[in-house]
Amino acid sequence: MHPERQLCIIHSQLYINMKPLQELVRPNIWALKPYSCARDEFKGMKADVFLDANENPYPNGVNRYPDPLQEQLKQLISPMKGVPVGNIFLGNGSDEAIDLPFRIFCRPGKDNVVAIDPTYGMYEVCADVNDVEYRKVPLTADFDMDPDALLAACDDNTKIIFICSPNNPTGNAFQREKIEQVIKTFQGIVIVDEAYSDFSTQRPFRMDIAQYPNLIVLATFSKAWAAAGIRLGMAFASEDIIGLYNKVKYPYNVNVLTQAKAMEILGNATLLQRHISMILEERDALLKAMAFLPICKKVFATDANFFLARVTDANGIYKYLVQRGIIVRNRSRVNLCGDCLRITIGTKDENTKLLAALRQYV
Ligand SMILES: *Cc1c(COP(=O)(O)O)cnc(C)c1O
Repeated sequence: MHPERQLCIIHSQLYINMKPLQELVRPNIWALKPYSCARDEFKGMKADVFLDANENPYPNGVNRYPDPLQEQLKQLISPMKGVPVGNIFLGNGSDEAIDLPFRIFCRPGKDNVVAIDPTYGMYEVCADVNDVEYRKVPLTADFDMDPDALLAACDDNTKIIFICSPNNPTGNAFQREKIEQVIKTFQGIVIVDEAYSDFSTQRPFRMDIAQYPNLIVLATFSKAWAAAGIRLGMAFASEDIIGLYNKVKYPYNVNVLTQAKAMEILGNATLLQRHISMILEERDALLKAMAFLPICKKVFATDANFFLARVTDANGIYKYLVQRGIIVRNRSRVNLCGDCLRITIGTKDENTKLLAALRQYV
């Protein structure tokens, strides 16, 4: 028996509902023999003469190919996130961690995925690029998710359910029990996007991947970690699923500069904590001040580093702010978000400028 298959059976005793992995994966991917790069072959042996990859031998910091599996970087991320190295995939932003499951699991023109709506736009874009049907299940009017409705939207060809929590653009995190119900009941893959979990008091799902063989949890360096510019996203899942990610990804998907900068950033966890607490403090203050503005009809509760506000005239206020050099996100054309602006928590100075401008709006 194939070793991957055996692992899958051991896991599925936990939650028997999941189909065997081989049934979920596209046959061409299951059979795929991945590209074997020069640095894969000698792995484990000591060497100091590298004449295997046709690199320029003169050092400048980037003349060598990066580690294809980013071992050193994963060693630092693992204790920080509480996830074993073997359960981590690193990619070129969450974008890569979102796109690869489509290419691993979804047969173009046949399979479909299900997602809450409204949510992060990238899931639908990746579905469209991969020619995979994207089924939207509306949130309730107060942006809550209905697990039964999500499950009812699935059929035999549904490979993935996307749940973003805290959700973008609504800002709220969903009740743990509701997400658990979907993971435990659905026979395919559930992707929980936790890009904003550092700003939430809810326990993250990445801690539970050992329990749920069909769960993929996403995280990113782009938000709390203050590193949107290096393009580094994470996926946490069973070793079987991480193995599939590694098989399909570009061999050197995370470049040398990104790996080095990420290791530097991970060395300063106190700065991260300071940023998070400043952002949370500012979030409280900004939400309270917004609620008093005459232009503001409703401020929605948030578990993220942004919030949604329903205003008297989203289009007019958006344009007015642009003229003042202040850019927010106009979400008024998004489902359930009529006349809503999505506003990121900035520095104290930036938030003060925003409030001053909004007070002067007539
Ligand atoms: C910002 C964001 C991300 C991060 O994407 P990157 O490609 O890692 O920058 C992921 N998911 C959601 C829901 C987001 O809002």
